[in-house]
Amino acid sequence: MLAKYRALREDHAAVSAAGRDPFGVAFDTVLSATEATLDGRRVLLLGTNNYLGLTFDRDCVAAAVAATEAEGTGTTGSRIANGSYGGHEALEKRLARFLRRRGAMVFSTGYQANLGTLAGLAGRGDHLLLDADSHASIYDGARLAGAQVTRFRHNDPDDLRRRLRVLSSQPGDKLVVVEGIYSMLGDTAPLREIAAVKREAGAWLLVDEAHSLGVLGAEGRGLAEAEGVEAEVDFVVGTFSKSLGAVGGFCASDLPDFDVLRIASRPYMFTASLPPSVVASVARGIDAMDARPELRARLAENGRALHAGLAAAGFALGAGPGPIVSLRMPDRETAIRFWNLLLAEGVYTNLAVGTATPGGKPLLRMSVSAALTAEQLAFAVAAIGRVGAALGARGDNDTAAAA
Ligand code: PMP
Repeated sequence: MLAKYRALREDHAAVSAAGRDPFGVAFDTVLSATEATLDGRRVLLLGTNNYLGLTFDRDCVAAAVAATEAEGTGTTGSRIANGSYGGHEALEKRLARFLRRRGAMVFSTGYQANLGTLAGLAGRGDHLLLDADSHASIYDGARLAGAQVTRFRHNDPDDLRRRLRVLSSQPGDKLVVVEGIYSMLGDTAPLREIAAVKREAGAWLLVDEAHSLGVLGAEGRGLAEAEGVEAEVDFVVGTFSKSLGAVGGFCASDLPDFDVLRIASRPYMFTASLPPSVVASVARGIDAMDARPELRARLAENGRALHAGLAAAGFALGAGPGPIVSLRMPDRETAIRFWNLLLAEGVYTNLAVGTATPGGKPLLRMSVSAALTAEQLAFAVAAIGRVGAALGARGDNDTAAAA
């Protein structure tokens, strides 16, 4: 059965041959939102999505512990078959209030939130218009939906307009899907232009704010808030695994009938619901996102500091300052060596060499946290500078310009 993976195995072995297996890192202990030990050595975590540093927040941890004591470790079933806990419904109400939406539905992961929302909303005869750089969960959701998929060029509203025109005579609902911040390069969608195209065409719009919730917008609701186009966004998808420091996902909407997805969406219906600990810590996380705008400000400041430090060191960066800072690598070998040498310097980042990267180009991806100190950022910039100098690699200006 597994013989078909021979080429994949060989490829993986080649990636790992230069040092450590980048896809099999197992920390000894995670010490804080920003540090872990690996083979007995301390490493700085610069490759998490722990944007607000809430994984060790005292209130979130205490809420998770108290909920476990009170309601146990797990729900052992789906909400449809086994019933919801009070916390699930309270979390949905809290989330809807935070997002200023009529209703919200919680899923067991962010991946499932996309699967469940797309497959719930669209079916055979409908059209999904996906940005070409969409996350795997969006592509997989589209497959599960069985709708006709049209990809448009990444962040290109004109291409979207052309494709919607081609589809204009065809029956079925048309749903445009974009992300607030794209996970690999950290670039944002041109949401005002996309919203205008969607309105013109009479289509629907879904924005996955996985990386922008708690990050963008004066109140942290994401890119749609920052761009002033929330009224044009029909469905907001997001995750609890990044700024909220836990696991789980959601979809929120103002549509009055939105709740019907609870009995129509298989990734909602046929999987166990979130455990009490996660529900409780996420609810506290939303409180923190709401009440502590300084976390967002510190994250932005840290993003600017890392970006400026690397730009000053001569690196070509994937996007403007933000919570995700990516270095384009000239080739796979350099990317793999860069990642290994940086880890040896005590800095953990994400190596992206597969098809998930824009244009299939290798990347060294970093994400910033509000919990990082100025000293930790300076340490990272110095280490990256040393490795870049040793390898003669400072990002790849040619591919940056071509993208
Ligand atoms: N959407 C996007 C844009 C993502 O980047 C991710 C995760 N990287 C997900 C959805 C899935 O979220 P989760 O990991 O919480 O399942």
